[in-house]
Amino acid sequence: MSDKDDAETMRGRLRSERVNSLFSEDELIEDYYDQPAANDSSCWNDYGLSTLQSSGTVSRSISMHSGSTEGLDASAQLLPIIKAGWLDKNPPQGSYIYQKRWVKLDADYLRYFDSEKDTYSKRFIPVTSIVRVASIGDQKFEVITNNRTFAFRAESDADRNEWMRTLQQMVDERKFKGLNRISLFQPPTSALDSVDKCGLLELRGFKNKLYVVVAGDKVFLYKNAEDYRQGIGITYIEMNVGNVKDVDRRGFDLTTPYRIFSFSADSDQEKDEWVEAMQQSITEALSNSEVAERIWLVEANRFCADCGSPKPDWASINLCVVICKRCAGEHRGLGPSITKVRSLKMDRKVWTEELIELFCQVGNCVANQFWAANVPPSEAIHVASGSQERRRFLIAKYKEGKYRRYHPLFGNQEELNKALCATVTTSDLAETQSLVFCGAEVSCFSGDPDFPNPIALAEQAGQKLQMEFLLHNKNSEIPQVEAGSSEEKHYSVILPSVTHNGFLHKTPSMAKLVHERKSREEFSRRWCTLNDSIFSYYENDRNAVPNGEIKMEEIVCLVNNPPDTHGFESTFEVYIESERLYLFGLDNPEAIRKWVKSIAKSFIHPRADELLSYDFERIGRLQYKGGLNLERAKEGWFALAQSVLYAFFEDSDKEEAVHLKKLQELSIQGDSLVLVERRRTLYIQGERKLDFLGWVAAIQKAAGSSGDTLSEQQLTESDIPVIVDRCIDYITQCGLTSEGIYRKSGQNSKTTSLLEMLRKDARRVRLKEGEHHVDDVSNTLKRFFRDLGDGLFTKEFCQDWLKAAAVENEEEKVSQYRHLLSSLPVVNRATVKALINHLYRVQYFSEMNQMNTHNLAIVFGPTLFQTDGKDYKAGRVVEDLISRYVVIFSVDEQEMRKQQDEIQAIIKMRIAGSSSGTQQAGDFICTVYLEEKKTEAEQHIKIPATMTAEELTFEILDRRKIETKEKEYWSCFEVNEREEAERPLHYSEKVLPILHGLGTDSYLVVKKQLSMENMLIYLASRVSDSKHGMMKFREERNVLGLGLSTGFHDRYFILNNSCLRLYKEVRSHRPEKEWPVKNLKVYLGIKKKLRPPSCWGFTVFYENEKHEKQQWYLCCDTQMELREWFASFLYVQNGGNVWPSESSKVRASRTQQDSRLGNISLIPLRGNENEMRNSVAAFAADPLTLLRNV
Ligand SMILES: [Zn+2]
Repeated sequence: MSDKDDAETMRGRLRSERVNSLFSEDELIEDYYDQPAANDSSCWNDYGLSTLQSSGTVSRSISMHSGSTEGLDASAQLLPIIKAGWLDKNPPQGSYIYQKRWVKLDADYLRYFDSEKDTYSKRFIPVTSIVRVASIGDQKFEVITNNRTFAFRAESDADRNEWMRTLQQMVDERKFKGLNRISLFQPPTSALDSVDKCGLLELRGFKNKLYVVVAGDKVFLYKNAEDYRQGIGITYIEMNVGNVKDVDRRGFDLTTPYRIFSFSADSDQEKDEWVEAMQQSITEALSNSEVAERIWLVEANRFCADCGSPKPDWASINLCVVICKRCAGEHRGLGPSITKVRSLKMDRKVWTEELIELFCQVGNCVANQFWAANVPPSEAIHVASGSQERRRFLIAKYKEGKYRRYHPLFGNQEELNKALCATVTTSDLAETQSLVFCGAEVSCFSGDPDFPNPIALAEQAGQKLQMEFLLHNKNSEIPQVEAGSSEEKHYSVILPSVTHNGFLHKTPSMAKLVHERKSREEFSRRWCTLNDSIFSYYENDRNAVPNGEIKMEEIVCLVNNPPDTHGFESTFEVYIESERLYLFGLDNPEAIRKWVKSIAKSFIHPRADELLSYDFERIGRLQYKGGLNLERAKEGWFALAQSVLYAFFEDSDKEEAVHLKKLQELSIQGDSLVLVERRRTLYIQGERKLDFLGWVAAIQKAAGSSGDTLSEQQLTESDIPVIVDRCIDYITQCGLTSEGIYRKSGQNSKTTSLLEMLRKDARRVRLKEGEHHVDDVSNTLKRFFRDLGDGLFTKEFCQDWLKAAAVENEEEKVSQYRHLLSSLPVVNRATVKALINHLYRVQYFSEMNQMNTHNLAIVFGPTLFQTDGKDYKAGRVVEDLISRYVVIFSVDEQEMRKQQDEIQAIIKMRIAGSSSGTQQAGDFICTVYLEEKKTEAEQHIKIPATMTAEELTFEILDRRKIETKEKEYWSCFEVNEREEAERPLHYSEKVLPILHGLGTDSYLVVKKQLSMENMLIYLASRVSDSKHGMMKFREERNVLGLGLSTGFHDRYFILNNSCLRLYKEVRSHRPEKEWPVKNLKVYLGIKKKLRPPSCWGFTVFYENEKHEKQQWYLCCDTQMELREWFASFLYVQNGGNVWPSESSKVRASRTQQDSRLGNISLIPLRGNENEMRNSVAAFAADPLTLLRNV
């Protein structure tokens, strides 16, 4: 630092006085420039050559190339100077002298020069390599790159600040645009793609060789290769003003109007290469300049119409947009009926005067006013976007016309055509564009036989540009928002070409699903070939003309039927887009397998080809919806193999699997099949009827119970058959204390019908007290196990279990049981554990139900081992498993205690329910906790249909004789343990529906709402009804867990009196998402597994009218923000009525306070104590009072 201070004091000393000691790299460069002129005409310091006027010979040589000097100016305009001025550049190390430099900043570079007249800089620093700008003391600032720091001193603080502000802004913009750039140190933009030659060259006037790079239309000079990698160079030469001349064996001159660069290569061969590369560069620069520079004269045409890249040198001649090389590549993929791509440089012939003029009048500006009128920021692409992103955007923009500004006549063909005929006779090209791309027909009949169409009309009116535009769009496709269609073009291009042929038997194509068995007679033998993505079938293998064809791109589904479905041993079905179905068969399973594989391979999108690795019974594409964006259906590729549905979704190249047997729900809603997994919902849409119906039947079948072994049943998350889970759950709730449970037989007919119902679709069966007797249910469970195909313990191991029961050594026996247990299939193992756990609970109440372990063993031994009851060992196994439950199943103490608590609660509830004697049908008895979830704090309470949260709260408080004081806001909370979140019910909310909706890991608790007071104060004092601000946002795993919602991201939110809107950032104009507030359920807290950035968070559930569900998280920076947001939600959701004004009226009388419970704190929502305090504190008016309580 002292160096700089010294430097400050030494300012003004003469250059010659410089202390010439250690040179920095920087200084070396400076040094080159500062060397005294060795040669009169080629040295940097020869100011005589710095201007165009001073060198007549050179300027003439330029004229030959570009015809005029205007071209030069045009190229200079390409990168407008954003800021320029005199600055003092810090002295190189070892020196005290500041050097006056003319500094220029454009979009790409910060450059400094000896004087403002110089063309060639002493140094250029790409904006992309600047990390930040920092102020260092009076008038000084530093430009910091990854490797180097450049210090400057301005005339004044104001000037310094202005430089810093401008630079920082440029850097920020660049960072924003180039987030995904691989390297920040490469020369920017066009030079990136096209390094034509690089290496070391001698340059006269320089001591050491320079690193020279010929890239595109420029030649860059760097001190060395390292500098080149870092991007920091000396200067660059625009080759549109260059001329290359051979001088001698190794030497050549690059002459420009401003300077002659005399290079010398290592060999003559090297020299030739350099000369050629530079000449090529000149050609490129000049080919640009003629067409491109004319088109670039219009400001908007200097940046790619689609991604904003500077100097775009391609164009779509029918859309009239100038685009960059990368976008041009993606444009081509759309096909010429959408966009006709031409180069500004190379396709010289196409650029007629009219077309160039058309581009100057329409061009990017007018075109984008139409095509990009409504681009959501989240969908826009930028310089660094990847090709997939570009393709998606361009399809949406030009093929689907998603962002276009609709013409008022859109949809009215006749009017559109009429308007077009009128407009083409005027000069209004924007209107013509709008009409044509909103559906007006370029070749429509004008009604005038002399000038029958718009083109003739335009010609007659002398509107050449209109003609030009119409001619290029004569065969253009009109944009259509048609999901799915966008992909088709690509298939035909990229589908692998599979060839296969042979005889197959074929039925006539059908328009209905094949339900009945087709006999052999209904098939005819055909010679079939698969070639060039076309499947053809012929009368026989000698015929040249096929009877019919199926194009691979039309195929939407392929089904491999089970053996012997029809008259032939193996058959497969092909479904095509136009709702037809083809059935083929053969008695050769191997040959059919090959056909299926070949066809599948030819129509499945390559990105989904992993699906081919499954032994699928059905494969194809379907529309689906899911995640947060339920508005737009997307296309996915699906394969069904046994009970797993594998899927490749749009935007994801990872495969997802849906285990159909474990679905929580499978239903048809409207024209969608709804698959609900735990916290995931997928909607498969019936876009076409025929294949959709096939899929629905197949998925339903796969999701149901398919056989009589355990693993073929519908399963819960924990791999227990739903049928077993339902019965156990019901007995636990209603039958634990029932005398002779599992011994008494129920009514045979009821058991039979219940079992049948459960077998058909256990998920749909809801067992209800009053409707189902416990003995019927217990017998259903026993019957299920007794009839099980392979038995619970499996045929394979059954005898081993019985043998183990006879082992005398206790330790040895337990060890054998454990070993046998581990050998069982997963589902059997889980089921054994669940059942024994249940029986363990049952025997726990043997005093009431008379079913001790021995009695249970007598009943269950023969049932589970499917024996006649004579072998005592069967009973012994069950008895051992129950009595040694904890050891054999390695149950830990905590799990045990938890279960005990649950059982206690159930029993208490039942006693409470029955002792009151007033239980009425329809009344639910429910456990509600006071202040925290623990046994002492529980209350069993009947919930009539009319009961509100407020009434429930008072009921609990009354029972516990708790007096409410002023400013105590007692409320009923719904606590979701799994989500680690809670929600205070609104006082007027009905409890019963809430209760019905509660999951097993949720419960109700009555406690004080500590933040209510502050929320009410906030609401009373706020100025506006809407609330807005930044929050951190995270989506729940998308449908089927795809989507990349990792972590929380800053988003801007606005909550008004009906909607919550999410914006990508403050400046965004259009919301990315929007939810009606009435459909939101807002919970306080976020489960810690998601690592919320702060403890002030919400979990939000959203359900729309179609019962489509979403879940996401919001996190605030401070407790106050959280409170304000939550208060605002309450306010909006309840029409401003957040708390009853006179709640005391509802409550009749209060007696004295229950001292035992008076000081209990809030329930802990989070794991460890600190987190719990944070979580609690989040909602406390004063965290300190809380800590006292804890
Ligand atoms: Zn582009």
